[in-house]
Amino acid sequence: MKCYNHHDRDAFGICRACGKGLCLECLDEHDGAVVCKDNPKCKNFMKCLSILPFLSFCILLIILFMLIVD
Ligand SMILES: [Zn+2]
Ligand SMILES: [Zn+2]
Repeated sequence: MKCYNHHDRDAFGICRACGKGLCLECLDEHDGAVVCKDNPKCKNFMKCLSILPFLSFCILLIILFMLIVD
């Protein structure tokens, strides 16, 4: 796979958000995941993903609370 922006360079990683191949110059890391450096949408996508475990934990707490109240 080649870099999406540099067709003459081999891709070093693949963006977790959009799946494009990225060379070292084009990739950025967010919590250990590769994302496009120049695409804010991809960075936002990873931010959303990183709060998902926290959200599911909150939902679990709410469900437990409802079970206890019943
Ligand atoms: Zn590149
Ligand atoms: Zn991307």
